[in-house]
Amino acid sequence: MTAYQDEQRQGHLQVIAHLRCEGPALREALWNACAAYLAFRRKLDGFLLRHCAPLCTANCYTSQTSACCNRESIITFFADLVVNALVSGPQELDRLLEPLERPHEGAKCVYLDGEGCIWRLKPIVCAMFLCDRAEQKVLGNTGRVRDQWLALKAEDRLFRWPDRPVLFDWLEERFMAAGIQSPLMYLHLSPGLLRVKRRAGWSAAPSQPREPGSAGRGGRFEGRDRHRRSTS
Ligand code: SF4
Ligand code: SF4
Repeated sequence: MTAYQDEQRQGHLQVIAHLRCEGPALREALWNACAAYLAFRRKLDGFLLRHCAPLCTANCYTSQTSACCNRESIITFFADLVVNALVSGPQELDRLLEPLERPHEGAKCVYLDGEGCIWRLKPIVCAMFLCDRAEQKVLGNTGRVRDQWLALKAEDRLFRWPDRPVLFDWLEERFMAAGIQSPLMYLHLSPGLLRVKRRAGWSAAPSQPREPGSAGRGGRFEGRDRHRRSTS
């Protein structure tokens, strides 16, 4: 196995074990915390399905030639693993681990199989990626569809760009508080993201988990509030 496979596998196993060990109370807390993000992902999926799926399916997924999936080591945040584990069944999680437990051949992403991506909820970096061809063909240069895409990109930042308290940071802290460490905890390990936190004037070091919606040092947990506004 490659170092990447091992890192991914360890991350998934840590998340799965902690969810199983802690039981329904943790699941419920995470579901509540992730509600706005999951609503965002449904909106994003709807957009991609409406506007990009025909092009992506025909050109890439079924032929396994996707430029999106042509690298073994795609970036996954620890929060990607948590949210995916939350929405996946046991069989889906077993399937996710399979390619991480055997030698990987070829240059394509380890998570790509003949039916496409095997994540139940694919990593956010993958979900937000559009190749130049798709950008041009689907979005064009101006217009309503491009505006919708730009709005989705802005909303994506509210969950993971740490210039304010964000869900991805909170999820890492929630697991760190249980003694779990992972190199995928970029919100606490990436020098670039730590710099963003410092510039924004809030935590650059792990702190105690906050309940989403509570005031952190840098303000409110925007993603959830935004969901409340947009769905009320
Ligand atoms: S975004 Fe581009 S590379 Fe990715 S699946 Fe769609 S057409 Fe293929
Ligand atoms: S995780 Fe899924 S969507 Fe992302 S590169 Fe791999 S196969 Fe493609």
